Amino acid sequence: MSKNVLEEYALKYALINAVKHDGKARIDAVIKMILSEHPEIKRKGLIRDLVEIVKEKVKEVNELTLEEQLKLLRDRFNIKEIVEKPKETRKDLPPLPGVEEALNKYGKIVTRFAPAPTGALHIGHILRAAIVNYLYAKKYNGEFILRIEDTDPRVIKKVYYDWIIEDLKALGIKWDKLVIISDHFERTYEVAEKLISEGKAYVCTCPAEKFREYKSLKVECPCRKLPLEEHLKRWNMMLEGYYSEGEAVVRLKTSMKDPNPVLRDPPLLRIVESVPHPRTGYKYRMYPLYNFACTVMDHDFKVTHIIRAKEHEHNAAVQEAIYRSLGWDIPIAIQYGLIYLKDVKMHKRHIREGLREGEIKGWDDIRLPTIRALLRRGIHPQAFFRLAIETSITKHDITLSMETLYAINRQIIDPIADRYFYVENPILVKIHNTPKEVVVKAKLHPKKPERGVKVYRFKGETLKVYIAEDDLKLLKQNAIIRLIELFNIKVKSINLEERIVEAEYAGNEILKEIPKIQWVPEGLCLKAFVYKPDGSLGEGLVEYYAQFLKPGQIVQLERYGFAKVERNEGEVIYFIYSHP
Ligand SMILES: [Zn+2]
Repeated sequence: MSKNVLEEYALKYALINAVKHDGKARIDAVIKMILSEHPEIKRKGLIRDLVEIVKEKVKEVNELTLEEQLKLLRDRFNIKEIVEKPKETRKDLPPLPGVEEALNKYGKIVTRFAPAPTGALHIGHILRAAIVNYLYAKKYNGEFILRIEDTDPRVIKKVYYDWIIEDLKALGIKWDKLVIISDHFERTYEVAEKLISEGKAYVCTCPAEKFREYKSLKVECPCRKLPLEEHLKRWNMMLEGYYSEGEAVVRLKTSMKDPNPVLRDPPLLRIVESVPHPRTGYKYRMYPLYNFACTVMDHDFKVTHIIRAKEHEHNAAVQEAIYRSLGWDIPIAIQYGLIYLKDVKMHKRHIREGLREGEIKGWDDIRLPTIRALLRRGIHPQAFFRLAIETSITKHDITLSMETLYAINRQIIDPIADRYFYVENPILVKIHNTPKEVVVKAKLHPKKPERGVKVYRFKGETLKVYIAEDDLKLLKQNAIIRLIELFNIKVKSINLEERIVEAEYAGNEILKEIPKIQWVPEGLCLKAFVYKPDGSLGEGLVEYYAQFLKPGQIVQLERYGFAKVERNEGEVIYFIYSHP
């Protein structure tokens, strides 16, 4: 390692450190950064050389202006922006059990996420079923399958297929294989026929009511005793369309005396002909039930690990019985607890009802915990990943507060969100006796001067600004208040009826103990609306530079909260409130 290389490192990190700290780099911080990126320097015994070189470079860099430092970083090292790594509490998932065994048997780890197209995905699906399965496949260089469980035409819709794909893509989840069960219905028929011909399944033509009775009495239905030939005949009649919906069901032959009622001859396939399937129309009349389809697909696609929620415990028992009948190896299942969201309704059934009744406007309604709604609100995709890792594989149920998600998201978006002033329910403040000319230069981001500044120039002796109604409580007669980035004012009078405050200029000295509030200049502001997750709509004014905002951009409305720009209509900006 030559002296030139060390000089290059020293210059680069001195610049980075300087830009982060208002243009002044510190020798010890720069050395620490270099050693953490290039530990070989220590091994090669070059520390003493490094210290000397860093001292020199820090001195050089600190003599430059911030603009010059930024230019050098850009031109020489192609670094346009310094993004600091947010703190992480847990970096990785715990190891997966049975990896070696699975690798010996199948050659790779295969996991899957298997949502049904019955609604938009919500945070509960994503945290565990999607992200954890995806990350495990990645961790072991395995395969991740996205499998769409479209087995019941009565509850699925075309648009939900598209949204599953869209939402996962928006989160950055990539799958190696996409499997749609309706492409494999015939394969499930093949497996069913095999089971029937081996006497391990049968065609039951008992009315549903009647069978329920047998089940509760733990007795076998009359069909079960019929000879194998009769069942094969019935099976062919099913295939040919002899039976109508509800008239015949293929059942797995287990034991009607099983202590677990779901295991008493569970159904494998049934007839649905009242509703066309969104992908196959009326082509098929026989549809596999979830557990049967799941077993066949997991087996055929060599899924090695199934990570599932405790609510699927009953299903797991049925699937195991099917695996045993077929003599197939059972994938390794990992049960985890359920995630409940505090004070949030997240069941798809509730959302579907709300939509039909018009109470909810869409699956991306920002009151909902769906992925579409949360992304629309400015929750960063990485926040879901971090939360998934932090809550991964707890056996017990957990109640998650949205605050936890917000706290993680805040760490991610704070460095990328520019700051703007927004005043809700504006109150006019007339400030008298101001200096003849006032120039304000406010940084778009306090820690990132490279983002630029918002400049305002005011002339005249009276300045009119708006403040938020909520800040009126800080204003009393003769109180001194700081308008952030502007100057101090002294309150003279407050007219609540006309929503006007008279005040006068009170110097520019930064005083510690006085309230500091945001403001927007009269005439240099835009109308703004803020949609909030509680369903309410905030209305106010946002500063003039908000005209540059683009839809999708996340900002911090100072002293108000983070928000995502939904639309910029020139005269008015529509925001969606993210969280405090
Ligand atoms: Zn029967």
